Parts: sequence; C-alpha cells; structure tokens
Amino acid sequence: MLQAAIIGYGGMGKWHHEAISGQVKDIAVTGAYDLRPEANDEARAKGLKVYAAARDLFADQDIDVVIIATPNDSHKDYIIQGLEAGKHVVCEKPVVLSSADLLEIMEVGKTSPGLFTIHQNRRWDRDFQTVKTILEEGEVGKAYFIESRVNGSSVFLHGWRDYKINGGGMLYDWGVHLIDQALQLIPEKVTSVTAHLFNIHSQEVDDNVKVLLTFESGISMLLEVATNCFIPAPRWHVSGRDGTFVIYNWQCEGKIVKLADSSALKWENDIVYTAAGPTRTMAPRPVNTTVEKPLPQILDARGNEYHRWSSADIFYHNLVEAIRGEAALLVQPEEALRVLKVMELAFASAEQGHGVSCLI
Ligand code: NAD
Repeated sequence: MLQAAIIGYGGMGKWHHEAISGQVKDIAVTGAYDLRPEANDEARAKGLKVYAAARDLFADQDIDVVIIATPNDSHKDYIIQGLEAGKHVVCEKPVVLSSADLLEIMEVGKTSPGLFTIHQNRRWDRDFQTVKTILEEGEVGKAYFIESRVNGSSVFLHGWRDYKINGGGMLYDWGVHLIDQALQLIPEKVTSVTAHLFNIHSQEVDDNVKVLLTFESGISMLLEVATNCFIPAPRWHVSGRDGTFVIYNWQCEGKIVKLADSSALKWENDIVYTAAGPTRTMAPRPVNTTVEKPLPQILDARGNEYHRWSSADIFYHNLVEAIRGEAALLVQPEEALRVLKVMELAFASAEQGHGVSCLI
C-alpha cells in the first residue's frame, strides 16, 4: 500500500483525499499540510497526520506520494522539494507558470527516483471522450473547426485566482484544461495561436479568454473560457466536412446531424424567400438529405459507466501501475510543457494584438 500526503487541504486537496479514499485501494492518504490552521484542523478531524511544516512532510520516510493542491505560484518549489526527497509527485494543473520553470523541474526529475505527473483530469471527462470518439469514428467526415467552450457567469474570480502573483486568471485556470484537451484531440503541431484576453471585472488578471489555435493540416480550434456569460453557448460545436455535432452541456445532451449520403451535398433549389430574405445559400436544407443521430453512449477508459470519480479512478490507478513499472504515466511532463508553450504564445498574442506563428 502506498502512502500519500496532500499539500494544500483546500477545495482540490479535499477532492483528492475523497476520490482516492473511495476509488483507489492501493493508495492511502495519511497526511496533510496547509498554511491555514482551519484547513489543518479539518484534515486532523478526518484522521490525517498534520505536519507542522512542509519540510517535515517531505522528510517523512513513510510517505511515498505527495499531492500538491496549493495555489499555482507555489507548485514549483513544492515539486522540486518532493522530487529531491525522492517522492512520487502529483501536481495540480497548471503545473507551473512558465515553460522555463517546468524545464528546471524536469532537470531535477532526471536524478530523482520519484515519478512526476500532472493532474490534467479533464482528459477523462465524458464530453471530451464523446468528442474524441465521434472524430475517431469519422462520423462527420474530416473536422475543420472545433469550438470548445466553458461559459460561466460567476463574474468575480474566487480568492487567489484573482491575483497575478498567485498565477491567477482564467487562461491558467480553465484555459490549461482546454488547451490540454485540444492537443490531445488533434495529433498535429500547432502552427498559430491568436488570443484575446479580457479583464471585464478583474483588476489584475484575465477573466474571459478566447484562443484560436491552428494546426498543421489547417484544422482550427476556438477555445473559450467565460466568467461573464449569461447565455451559455454549447460546450462543444464541431464542424466536419460531412456533418456537424453539438454537445450542449456537461450532461452530454446533444446530437449529430450529417448528410444522408454524398449525393445530398448539392441540391437544386430556386431562390427561397426565408426570414433572412431571398437566399439560396442559407435556404433550409430538405429534411430527407440529412440524418440526425444521438451522441454515442461511451464508457470511461476503464470500460465503466461514467461516475463522479471516473477521472481519479483512471489517473491514480495509472500512477500505481507506473510506480510498479507496469505502465507509462498517462500525463507526461513533456505534454504539460507543450501546453505551457501554447499558453505563453496566447499571452504574447493578446499583448501584441495579433496572432503568433509557431511550430509546437
Ligand atoms: P483553494 O484555495 O480551495 O485551496 C488551496 C489551499 O492551499 C488552501 O487551503 C490554502 O490555505 C492552501 N495554501 C495556500 N498556499 C499554500 C502554501 N504555500 N503551502 C501550503 N498550503 C497553501 O484552491 P483550489 O481550488 O483547491 O486550487 C488548488 C490547486 O488545484 C490550483 O493549482 C488549481 O488550479 C487546482 N485545481 C484543479 C482542478 C482540477 O479540476 N484539476 C480544480 C480546481 C482547482
């Protein structure tokens, strides 16, 4: 049985504790450390050993795995201390605030017996896995434009997320998930990044984000994070050569609409008088030329129905297997490095006011 300790016993630290306790029989969470006495009291009340300082946690020979769930600016030092102490380290996303910092960590990792991975859990979200499945099955033909949005209306950013010094802002917070998903979805190099970052209510950091990524074959993805959107657009809208599909929400309601067959690509029509005025191009398509299908029902990567802890189940079982030398880590630092490089170009693009070419 591996023993784990959590640094940062706030929202996400408690999530890891609960998820591991419920799902992962080979890891026991036994310890915690937080800067806030109330958080430490809560950890103690749940039977965890609370350390007086982070260095005591790292020095504890009984601890095999350290889970870092503190604000983003503190990840780097904790990861390095964990690796130097020979622990296996799981760090929350965004792993660090720059690619240079991650490269430094990866150097340290070379001489540590510990493994190091990043909690990019949204790779195992049901909506994302549904998109991946539909594209892999070629259901709508070759995709050329993919829109991925998380639209909320919290308006104000919570706590440390509102401060630059803590690595706050929505590009770091949700943008990192959407970029990671994009790079997982399209196995091609990114050739340009164009970003608009808005400060609608936040004084210091981006609170609304739009990023357009272009890939080598020309396929583009629009990624959007909103905290000021009162009429959400669909979570996913995907345009393929032969059809379109939409996933409206986290419950994965949606549909696929595709051409009935290739002969339906063109149909003879007279000019039609529509609500848009006289038009051929935008005239409603005859219904018998398209087919509407439900979204596929998919199981999680372990072949189970999706449940609340699906991602933790997959992520931590993989960690256990990787520690035993039976599998490669599902989230590699090199992948997080690519995500950070794209994020850096997004910041640069927003600053410069135009798109940035690249080959990442
Ligand atoms: P939070 O504010 O709820 O919790 C952070 C905790 O860390 C607090 O209890 C705070 O007292 C403690 N803390 C702050 N600085 C510390 C330090 N230097 N040392 C020890 N403890 C410290 O924040 P959160 O929402 O849990 O976010 C924590 C991390 O988890 C962030 O990196 C965030 O991006 C990530 N996160 C990931 C997901 C996901 O789905 N993967 C979801 C939410 C948050």
